[in-house]
Amino acid sequence: MSKGNQNLSSHLWDSSALYRNALKTLEDASNTMSLDPNILERLVVPKRALCVSVPIRLDDGTVRVFEGFRVQHNITLGPGKGGIRYHEEVNLSEVAGLAMLMTFKNSLVGLPLGGAKGGIRVDASKLSRQEAQALTRRFTMEISSFIGPEKDIPAPDIGTDGQTMAWMMDTYSQGVGYSCTTVVTGKPIEIGGSLGRGESTGLGVVYSIEEAVKYLNLQKMPAPKMDATTTASVHGFGKVGAIAAAELFKRGVKVLAVSDVSGAIYSSKGLNIPDVMLFTSKNGYLKGYPDAETITNADLFAMPVDILVPAAIDGVITSANVGTIKAKIIAEGANGPISVDAQKILEEKGVFIIPDILCNAGGVIVSYFEWVQGLQNFFWSEDEINTQLREVMTKAFRRVTTTVDKYKCSMKNASMITAIERLSKAMLLKGLYP
Ligand code: NAD
Repeated sequence: MSKGNQNLSSHLWDSSALYRNALKTLEDASNTMSLDPNILERLVVPKRALCVSVPIRLDDGTVRVFEGFRVQHNITLGPGKGGIRYHEEVNLSEVAGLAMLMTFKNSLVGLPLGGAKGGIRVDASKLSRQEAQALTRRFTMEISSFIGPEKDIPAPDIGTDGQTMAWMMDTYSQGVGYSCTTVVTGKPIEIGGSLGRGESTGLGVVYSIEEAVKYLNLQKMPAPKMDATTTASVHGFGKVGAIAAAELFKRGVKVLAVSDVSGAIYSSKGLNIPDVMLFTSKNGYLKGYPDAETITNADLFAMPVDILVPAAIDGVITSANVGTIKAKIIAEGANGPISVDAQKILEEKGVFIIPDILCNAGGVIVSYFEWVQGLQNFFWSEDEINTQLREVMTKAFRRVTTTVDKYKCSMKNASMITAIERLSKAMLLKGLYP
């Protein structure tokens, strides 16, 4: 990487571990594939970013200003696409790193979309519904010139959901003067959402685990079966983790432990995931679930399971706890859950890692289907959605394993290389303006 890039990124972008990790992954891939340095030069920094102040009046009458961000990393392949995160640790660097991952994810799975991400530095669990609505509407207004159905299309991420997208869509629509459904995805069905979007990321995680099992069998490597002889644990029980756990449960896999911010629960017989989901839908958190033992998140990571799904936040498996990991397959449901040094240690131990940009791409794939359905005002059945999702995920998985064979590299390296190969061809064809 040239000195110029390092200086620029250290000034503006790389204060977060997530951005530095994404950059290191990019650098590793570019070394393996001998990437044109002029392309690398353009990929290490985002195309543009918008930082906004979001002032709202709280229920107690006081005014608070929150920091909001939207970053478009690369829009060569199409409009920017990526979620909106509400979390107390959100900052420009983290959002930029997540936008970079979106560029590679969208390229890898063959979508006509660029990479973007947004967020507000806020603990959304402390806001009332009215405060959350005011925050979302003001943020949307502040970034309204930056987003749009042909420019940049937000979606839910940590701390946001279909209701957040409904408020965003309505605010944007008020500004343009008509109901603009295609400005966001992850909307509720009643206002133009797609069947299957809510489940798509977690379902895609499990489709990619199934592909991993097939691949390991083909390679004559030890592979778990997707049945009651197989065990799993899931870190994070939100939109991604709960659905991944439920899909594993449906296939007969014993999900021994799941966790959230309130702690982790364990059952040696395997948890009844639909019952756990019913409990969290009523109580908000896992804490207090009656039919399981309470353990810590650290215990969950150390559990001797076949499949581990980190599906909460980034940077949870690092050099500090990697020695405790015993899983054979790690499916990265979250973005960036494994640090680069921990990843190398796991790979040396023979752990099969399904990289985030492949493993959790189901969400953006069905978001793309939602956007297309909205543009055509023609809606597909859930079976059609899931069949197409499976096909896109399977093709992407096989493209990555072909790259593994070609470069004799890891899955992580190969997924980035596969993504960069498509993107760099498009960048070279478009050339540089002026
Ligand atoms: P979410 O807010 O619905 O759920 C997050 C879950 O993680 C919650 O159960 C929360 O309690 C738990 N959690 C948070 N911090 C934790 C910690 N320190 N320890 C243990 N548990 C913790 O978010 P989500 O949409 O499920 O996103 C989870 C991850 O998946 C994020 O990295 C996100 O970027 C990624 N992702 C999400 C989507 C999507 O469609 N929602 C798509 C692709 C990737």
